[in-house]
Amino acid sequence: MTQRRKPAATTVAKEFQSSVDFIEEISPEWQETMGLDHIEIHHHYLDAASSLLFGAGTKNSPGTVRCAYMGGTTFTAFVETRWNYQMADVYWMCPSIVQWDEERLIATVVHEYSHILCASEQYLLEFKIEEIAAGNQMTTADIDALATMYYERMEMATENVARAVLRAAGQ
Ligand SMILES: [Zn+2]
Repeated sequence: MTQRRKPAATTVAKEFQSSVDFIEEISPEWQETMGLDHIEIHHHYLDAASSLLFGAGTKNSPGTVRCAYMGGTTFTAFVETRWNYQMADVYWMCPSIVQWDEERLIATVVHEYSHILCASEQYLLEFKIEEIAAGNQMTTADIDALATMYYERMEMATENVARAVLRAAGQ
């Protein structure tokens, strides 16, 4: 009988650490390039279990904008921005970042940082959706559909900013 073995964990761990090191290396440069020097940005790296738990119905604190940047079918990163305090936290999903190459990781950093640039405006979206929901004029399904429509446009606007930044930077 062929002896079965677990996947080589050390290899995955090394790939993970390599991705983390890369993100840590490039982030300060993009922070400066995008004029975000004055923002206190922290990066967090979540394991598979934490990635699943994160964002599951937890309530945003006031001023926070969340993004779930999709890479293929897998969440790659979230950003929580407390724009009124000039602070932001970027959460990286470890199962996802292991599989992405440098180009995708750069694009994700720039996308998340674009959310930070636009955070004060994007927060209005969260506020408006809560206001509509509180009005009890629409069904939950209608509010969900409206929120999805808003978020799709917010994500597209953010991605447009990110792509403009990448092109201007010659990427
Ligand atoms: Zn996004």
